[in-house]
Amino acid sequence: MTQITLIAATGASLPEPRQNRHLIGGTWTGSDNLLDRVSPSHGVVVSRSAVGTAADAEAAIAAARAAFDDGRWSGLSAKARAAVLHRVADLIEANVERFALIETLESGKPITQSRGEIAGAADLWRYAAGLGRDITGDSHNTLGPDMLATVIKEPIGVVSIITPWNFPFWILSQKLPFALAAGCTCVVKPSEFTPSTTAMLGELLVEAGLPAGVVNIVLGTGTPVGSLMSSHPAVDMVTFTGSTAVGKLISRTASDTLKKVALELGGKNPQVIFPDADLEAAADAVVFGVYFNVGQCCNSGSRIIVHEDIAEAFVARVVDLSRQVAFGDPLSPDTQVGAIVTPEHNVRIHGYVQAAVAAGARVALGGAALPVPGLGAQFYQPTVICDVTPDMAIARDEVFGPVLSVLTFRTLDQALSLVNDASYGLSAGVWSENVHTCLAFARGAQAGTIWTNTWMDGFPEVPFGGMKQSGQGREIGRQGLEEFLEIKSLVLRIGRTRAPWVKTRPA
Ligand code: NAD
Repeated sequence: MTQITLIAATGASLPEPRQNRHLIGGTWTGSDNLLDRVSPSHGVVVSRSAVGTAADAEAAIAAARAAFDDGRWSGLSAKARAAVLHRVADLIEANVERFALIETLESGKPITQSRGEIAGAADLWRYAAGLGRDITGDSHNTLGPDMLATVIKEPIGVVSIITPWNFPFWILSQKLPFALAAGCTCVVKPSEFTPSTTAMLGELLVEAGLPAGVVNIVLGTGTPVGSLMSSHPAVDMVTFTGSTAVGKLISRTASDTLKKVALELGGKNPQVIFPDADLEAAADAVVFGVYFNVGQCCNSGSRIIVHEDIAEAFVARVVDLSRQVAFGDPLSPDTQVGAIVTPEHNVRIHGYVQAAVAAGARVALGGAALPVPGLGAQFYQPTVICDVTPDMAIARDEVFGPVLSVLTFRTLDQALSLVNDASYGLSAGVWSENVHTCLAFARGAQAGTIWTNTWMDGFPEVPFGGMKQSGQGREIGRQGLEEFLEIKSLVLRIGRTRAPWVKTRPA
């Protein structure tokens, strides 16, 4: 096998499977029909979750509708809402370890990463709590002496939140506290692969004193639960993070009722490396970008576009660094890269590598499944593929694995046309010490986020989202809150100065 850094099974004792139920109108419910989640890394059942039915989804939507319409949440002051959100943040921080363990076992990601995600999510709750107290509108005092108009913002209403498996708690926290800060009520459906931390958050919401029915959680699969949440006339907005294919389905389903749709979808994110860059920093960031979350990341830096003059040496350095990244048991604090979400997905990743090789690409590192001593074989080797051409599926599709495609360029224009030759437009990166090169790149690249001499830095203050088929709308930042607000214009006449429209005749 390729020489790489492996962390064998730690032999840590594992918790008993968790039972998850729906939270509807403040009550925990669910039949005995349960779906088991088997840990991708450890092969044991981690959780048993109620399988949501159409009736469960209907009940959750009705509960959210009633809670919105009677004003039990939207009618509170922003200060009162913020107090609840801050209590939730406190509770998340007090439970980081408990949440991180189950997140790691359900998803296969390293425990240190799970801890960082859960603790970071608490900060999103705090940020949204503060932002919700600063919802302001416009006023128009220039419409004439007898007129005044104000533009006010209101919560959009009932919001369906549908999340993916790869960052379940983080992505939920990019949506839910912002929707709540805006005054909305919600129905939430986590992925059937990673439902536990969403259900556990439900327990914290109850403990924090969120009124019953404001957040309702239905576990289960896309159909019937997710599709009903997207089509139901009592829902005002659906916000979805997941694959582009399901995003398109949701968009079509939601169009019958013309509800607002916000989509955070896939990416095929390029990093362009110029010869004048800090190449050591760039190589490290490329390695981080492709292996973080085993490449199962919307922001995966899954293709690099390297200047021809430095390509050979740069790829050699990337391969060298790749060998030193610790793959293996996610429960070890030394592990940096964990398991692949399902056996089927591991096969899919390998299919992309095989197809690329058959089309003339060259494997510079890896290119096969990775058995980890003491654990299963649901891992994949760090993989670097050279001689990739833009027409290959590995250069265009979201492989969603630890697989880096290497392409080359000579001029900035060539680099930009390779960057933009994609259906996706989530993020892109440029490495150069020349500010003019960086700015020209940033202006020309079609992506929602451009990283310059860095990769995947994110902040609650900075909006995130995609162009093209990577999505619509933005999350986090001020814009992330605005998505959950509706605009209403109030036009006021001051004094009785309106000239009568009806020409009254004398009696
Ligand atoms: P997925 O699209 O398979 O599933 C996402 C969610 O949609 C799950 O909860 C699933 O049950 C639900 N769903 C499935 N069919 C549905 C339907 N017909 N109607 C309504 N809901 C349905 O995605 P996944 O495999 O869980 O996540 C990986 C994908 O998510 C990747 O494409 C990744 O790029 C994307 N993603 C994007 C971002 C971003 O911010 N842009 C972040 C993380 C993940």
